[in-house]
Amino acid sequence: MALKKRSKRHLRVIRILPALGRAIGNFHARHHTIALVPTMGALHAGHLSLVRIAQARADCVIVSIFVNPTQFAPHEDLKTYPRTFSADRAALAKTGIDLIWAPSIETMYPAGFATTIVPGGPAHAGLEDTFRPHFFAGVATVVAKLLIQCEPDIAIFGEKDYQQLKVITRLARDLGLKTRIVGAPIVREADGLALSSRNRYLSPKQRAAAPALYRVLNDCARGIAAGGPIAGVLRQGRATIARAGFALDYLEARHAETLAPVASAKGKPVRLLVAARIGKTRLIDNVAV
Ligand code: AMP
Repeated sequence: MALKKRSKRHLRVIRILPALGRAIGNFHARHHTIALVPTMGALHAGHLSLVRIAQARADCVIVSIFVNPTQFAPHEDLKTYPRTFSADRAALAKTGIDLIWAPSIETMYPAGFATTIVPGGPAHAGLEDTFRPHFFAGVATVVAKLLIQCEPDIAIFGEKDYQQLKVITRLARDLGLKTRIVGAPIVREADGLALSSRNRYLSPKQRAAAPALYRVLNDCARGIAAGGPIAGVLRQGRATIARAGFALDYLEARHAETLAPVASAKGKPVRLLVAARIGKTRLIDNVAV
C-alpha cells in the first residue's frame, strides 16, 4: 500500500504501552520501516533536523518526548527543564510524523523498577562522565527501554551530544539490538551557537558571549589541522574561553571514534569537545578537526 503523504497523516500522541504496542504492530503488519527520534521535548530546529533525516530513511517516524529523571543529578535542572508539550506537538504535526511517544514517569519507571544499564568504553572517556557521573547510566537505561518499546529499524541521535552518540552506538552493538544508530550533524544559530533547549536560560549578555565556544573550537581545529601542537593549541583555547566569561569543564581533543586522548592528529580522525558553564547554564559543543 502506498504511504500517505506525510503532511496528511494524523499525528497520534500515545502515552501508555499497550497502545504503543498496537501502533507498532500496525506498522509491522504493513511492512513499514520505523525510525525513532528520542528527545526530552522543548523542541527546536536541531530536533526537527533529526526528524527530517528520520523521514528520509524510514516509512514511519516516532518522536519520543520524555524528560528522563534518572539522567539528572539532584543538583541539576530536572525541575526547571523546559516543558513545552503543546508547542512540541504543533511543531511535530507540521512535519507529518506518525506518532509521539510521551510516556509518564510511572510508565517508564513503575514501582519496583530496579534495573540500570551501566555503560563502559566511551562512557568512561573523562569528558561528560567526569562532570556528570550519573548521566550515562541514566541515558543508556532510558534509551535501551525506548529502543525495546518502539522496535525501530533506525534511531537518530545528534552529534551535538557527541559522547552520548558513541555511548548509544556501543550500547546497541553490545546488547545486540536490531536498531541501527545514526548520527546527525549539529544545527547552529547564525552566529555559530549550537541550538540547545537550555539556550533559553541565557541572559542577553550570556547569549552574546556564548558563540565564543564555537569560535574557539574552530580556531583550535584549524590550528591542529595546520600541524600545531595539540597541547599548546588547547591551552590557548582554554584561556580564550575563560576570558569570554565561562567556567570551563573541559576542552579536549579526542579520537573521533574511541574518544581516547590523542597526542597528534596525524592519520586519525580527531574531534574537539568542549563543555563550559556561563552563569547557571552549562553548554556543550564539538567539531571535527
Ligand atoms: P535532547 O532533547 O536535548 O535530549 O536532544 C534530543 C536529540 O536531539 C539528541 O540526539 C541531541 O543530540 C539532538 N540535538 C540537540 N540539539 C541539537 C542540535 N543543535 N543539532 C542537532 N541535534 C541536536
